Formats: sequence, structure tokens, C-alpha cells
Amino acid sequence: MTREGIFLTSQEALRAVRLDFRGYGAQPMLFCEILRMVFGPDRLYQREPGKEGLWIAEGLQRMRWLEGSELIEYMCTILNEAELPPDRLAALCRLVFQAPCRPEDHSETGRAGIRVQTDMEAFACRQCGQCCRSLAYHDGITAQDVAKLKECGRLDILEWVGQTQTAEGQTVYRIWITPGSNQFAVLCPFLKSGPSPERWLCSIHDVKPTICRNYPVSRKHALMTGCPGFDTI
Ligand code: SF4
Ligand code: SF4
Repeated sequence: MTREGIFLTSQEALRAVRLDFRGYGAQPMLFCEILRMVFGPDRLYQREPGKEGLWIAEGLQRMRWLEGSELIEYMCTILNEAELPPDRLAALCRLVFQAPCRPEDHSETGRAGIRVQTDMEAFACRQCGQCCRSLAYHDGITAQDVAKLKECGRLDILEWVGQTQTAEGQTVYRIWITPGSNQFAVLCPFLKSGPSPERWLCSIHDVKPTICRNYPVSRKHALMTGCPGFDTI
């Protein structure tokens, strides 16, 4: 990731949109904007005050109520099928990621895609510890993270890493498991109080898992997960 943002192929951009929908739950206001932008008058939709769903109709069909995962999967399906041209896909990404996005062909491969400005230059960690205390990162550690910890001889950290096998025989790692048990620790054991009561520090900053290092990945990610790192002071 650079100041110029990240390049996503068209397929990767659509996958990121689906991940956003599935990760953050149904977003009826956003979905209305998308339906208007992508489908114009071909799709009717209506919100109901105080409810997290939408009435939707295609063409002459009767309106039907969708909410929760049904609404999310509906949006994923219709966007997959829409085969948006690059300028419309960029407009979709702007709405979803709340960041500047423009169509671009990859400089080396020539593949069509979208450049997303992540706006990370405006981010400053406030050391509030909110992410460490409340986000679900249990499946977040990668095999590369584990390999790095082994290389650094960090057995003190590795003893908090659990390990299971998938049905396909793949090794999956879990954090943080209280040593000698198969229970997740209530709080990350490496979160330490900082120089003042409202500040928190990561005691394994240099080798912390990628999921921790990369958080948050964008302004929207911060906004949706309660990180104040983009707030103006
Ligand atoms: S929630 Fe955001 S500001 Fe707070 S510690 Fe995490 S990254 Fe930093
Ligand atoms: S390893 Fe560090 S950054 Fe990750 S959750 Fe623990 S204290 Fe936070």
C-alpha cells in the first residue's frame, strides 16, 4: 500500500465490495445509493424507518422485503451479474469504500482495474487500544506470521498461538490461546497500559501479526470498527 493507494483488478474490486458487505452487515442507505447509481429506474426500492432492510422490486415484480444476509447476498449477486464498465465500477467503489477511486489499467500487466486511495496518510493512531480490546482477530494470524515468530525465536509469543487442522488437512493458527488450555484469552496478553490511563501499547510491536500491523486498512474500515485514528483533534 502506498500514498498512491492500491490497485485492484476489476475482479478484486468486486471481491472487496462483497467482503465489505459481508464484513459490515447490511447497509441499507448505501445499498439504496448503489441501486440508484447502477440500475436507475430499472429497480424499485424503498426503506422503512427504523428497519435495517429494503423493499425491492425488479421490473414489474411485486416488492419483496429483504434484510440481513439475504439482502447482502442479493446485492452481491446483482453486482456480480451487472458487468459494470470501469467508470461505473470506480463509482461503485467510491460509494462502498468512501474513498477516491478511479479506473486504471495496470502499468505492467495492462489489466483493467481500479485504483483506490486508502487515505491512510490522514491516519494517526491514538493508542486508545480499542482495536486490540474489541476486534475479532482470532483467525487473523497467518502461517507467515508464525514463521517469522519462529525465525525470531519468540517462543514467549508462540506459546499463545493455537493450531488446528481443517478437513482438507490445512494447518490453521489461532490467537491468543491461554497456554496449557484451549481457551481464547479474554484480552490480548501483549496489550499493556501506556504512559497515561487512556493510552495503551503493544508490547510486541515489532513482530505483531499482520492483521494488527495492517489495521485499519482504510478510513471506512476505521469508521465501521470504531477506530478514532482519522478523527480531527
Ligand atoms: S483503534 Fe485505531 S487509534 Fe485506537 S489503538 Fe487501534 S488503531 Fe490506534
Ligand atoms: S498483538 Fe499488539 S496490536 Fe495485536 S491485539 Fe495484541 S496488543 Fe493489539
